[in-house]
Amino acid sequence: MDCCAHEGPGGGDARFDIKKVADGVYAAVASPAYKVNCNTAIIENADGVMIVDTHSKPSAAEVIIERLREMTKKPVRYVVNTHFHWDHWHGNEAYPAAYPDAEIVSNNITREAMLKKGLKRIQDHVRQVPGEIAKLKADIQASSPAQRGKLETDLRLAESYLAEVRALKPALPTIAFEKTMKLYRRDREIQLLHLGRAHTEGDVFVYLPKEKVVITGDAMIGWTPYMGDGYPEDWAGTLDNLAQLDFTHIIMGHGDVTGREWLNTFRSYVHDMVEAVRHEAATGATLDEVKQRVTAKLAPRYEKPFSTYGEYRPWRTGLAANIERTFGMVS
Ligand SMILES: [Zn+2]
Repeated sequence: MDCCAHEGPGGGDARFDIKKVADGVYAAVASPAYKVNCNTAIIENADGVMIVDTHSKPSAAEVIIERLREMTKKPVRYVVNTHFHWDHWHGNEAYPAAYPDAEIVSNNITREAMLKKGLKRIQDHVRQVPGEIAKLKADIQASSPAQRGKLETDLRLAESYLAEVRALKPALPTIAFEKTMKLYRRDREIQLLHLGRAHTEGDVFVYLPKEKVVITGDAMIGWTPYMGDGYPEDWAGTLDNLAQLDFTHIIMGHGDVTGREWLNTFRSYVHDMVEAVRHEAATGATLDEVKQRVTAKLAPRYEKPFSTYGEYRPWRTGLAANIERTFGMVS
C-alpha cells in the first residue's frame, strides 16, 4: 500500500492535526499510530519558535518541521521535553539537524532519567522489535484476507521503526534547570514548572500565563494514564497544584486539546482509583480480587469518559495496569 507519501519522510504513521489554541500557540495533535506519537505544542515567539516534545522517532519530528516551515520562517530555538519517555523525546535529534542553534531543554530529573533509563530503553527497543516483526509475519501467514491489510501495514511500520531506532542519535537536553525556568520573550512569558511527581518523577509543565494555556505532557492525557514509571499516590496532589494556575486551555501529551472539565475528571479518576485500591488492599484482598472490585466500583463513573479512543487504548486494560502499579505501592 503506497498511499502515504504525503505523510512525510517516515512515509508512515506520523499524522498531526494542527490546531490554533491562542495567538502564536498551536497544538499538533497526533493521530493514533502503530508506534504511538505524542502531541507537540508549537509556540511562535517574536524571535523564534519553542517546541514541546518530539514523538517516538525523528521522522515524526520531521513531519512537524515540514509543517512549521509552511507556518513561519523563524527558526526553532528551544525544544522542551516534558519527561523521559521514548514517545516524547526520540525525535529530538531532528531539531538541531534542521536548526543548528536549537537548544533542548528539560529539568535535571528528566535529563538524568533519560541518561539512566531512557538510553537503556532504546537498546531494549532494538532488541525487542525484531520479535514483534517475526510475530507480525507469522500472524500474516495465519490471517484471513480481511485481517491481512492491517497486519501488512503494521509490519511495514514496525520495520521502518526498527531501522529508525537502530540509527537513533539520542539528543539529550543541552540546558537542564532545577525547579523552574522562565523565559521572558518580547511578546510572552513562558514558564517551565515542576509541580510534583505524577506520570514520572520529573514531569515538566509548560505554562503561558498571559495566554492561559498549559502543556502537561503525560501528567494528563485523553485516555487512561500510563503509571508504569509514575507515582499514583502523588499524582492527584500534583494536579491540584496545576489547578491553582490560571488557564483555560490544556494541551495534553496525547489526545485532543481540552479544558478544566477534563482536568477534574482525570484528577478524580486518579484519586478514586488510588483510594479504592488502598481500601481493598487493607482488607487483605489479593491483586486479582482488587482488580475485580476496583473495576466494578469505578466503571459506572469512568469507563465512558476514558473510552473516547476506544480499542486504541481500552480503559479496562489501562485500569488493570494502574491498579497493579498502585497495589504494589500501597500494600
Ligand atoms: Zn509518558
